[in-house]
Amino acid sequence: MTVQFIAPISPASHLSAARITAFAGYHAEQCRVEVVAETGSTNADLLARVASGDRSRALGAPTLLAAQTQTAGRGRAGRAWLTAPSAALTFSLAWPFAAPLQTLVGLPLAVGVAIAETLADFGVEVQLKWPNDVLQGGRKLAGILIETATAPDQQLWAVVGIGINLAMPEQLQEQIGRRTASLPAAAAQDRDLLLGSLLSALAQTMRQFENAGLAAFVERWNRLHAFAGQQVLILDQGKTLHEGRALGIDQIGRLLLQTDGGSSPIAIMAGDISLRPKED
Ligand code: ATP
Repeated sequence: MTVQFIAPISPASHLSAARITAFAGYHAEQCRVEVVAETGSTNADLLARVASGDRSRALGAPTLLAAQTQTAGRGRAGRAWLTAPSAALTFSLAWPFAAPLQTLVGLPLAVGVAIAETLADFGVEVQLKWPNDVLQGGRKLAGILIETATAPDQQLWAVVGIGINLAMPEQLQEQIGRRTASLPAAAAQDRDLLLGSLLSALAQTMRQFENAGLAAFVERWNRLHAFAGQQVLILDQGKTLHEGRALGIDQIGRLLLQTDGGSSPIAIMAGDISLRPKED
């Protein structure tokens, strides 16, 4: 006789919109929370709904969409964000954006601060890599991808997509090819609590950012800077554009880089460029 062992699905891996909303509390009172078992990309879903003229799908309020499993997660410039089923927190927050469009370049930095400070409340110390990654011990734990869409009524929406690794099967790690980190099990014991806390921090961040821009986040970001004072390379499609000592970010979110021989630091804008520690 063959005995088939079916692993019980841990209740911890099932997200509940009602519990997430309750944990998010009053800071996210105006936010709707939706949970789906599986989707391609939570960012793509929300962007499509913002742009859609179909009233039944339209977003009337800031909306958090969380997917238990995301099958076609995205990074910057068409890169892929890969996760195994139920082994990551993958979610996006769509927010009607009231600040000027040009301030958006600083938003991933503010969101990084919100994630790092929330994880610290869960006992997890992380660092930030300019412009949009969350690292733990030099390994990528979470990614941030912010995209925008304009609704038929001309309202601009920012869609803040976040993926946080909870586990990384060996095969997937090989596929990604770069070192990754996963959240310690204790921090993700109650995923609804973690997601609710992140939503609360993100809602506060979005409001603060709309009112005062990046100013409230610059010092906090620099305290969390993964490569402060270290030699780094700025790469464009694998080619070194700049090399120097990473000092931190300025008031609009550019990375200040002290190049060899330069009298004052140069300021790098986040386009589709990548940063690497020099010895990587
Ligand atoms: P770079 O690290 O070069 O600056 P990036 O930070 O812009 O790039 P993103 O586009 O945000 O990277 O994310 C996609 C990249 O992240 C992929 O090319 C891959 O290297 C890596 N990656 C994909 N999935 C994961 C994951 N689950 N955990 C950690 N890293 C991942």
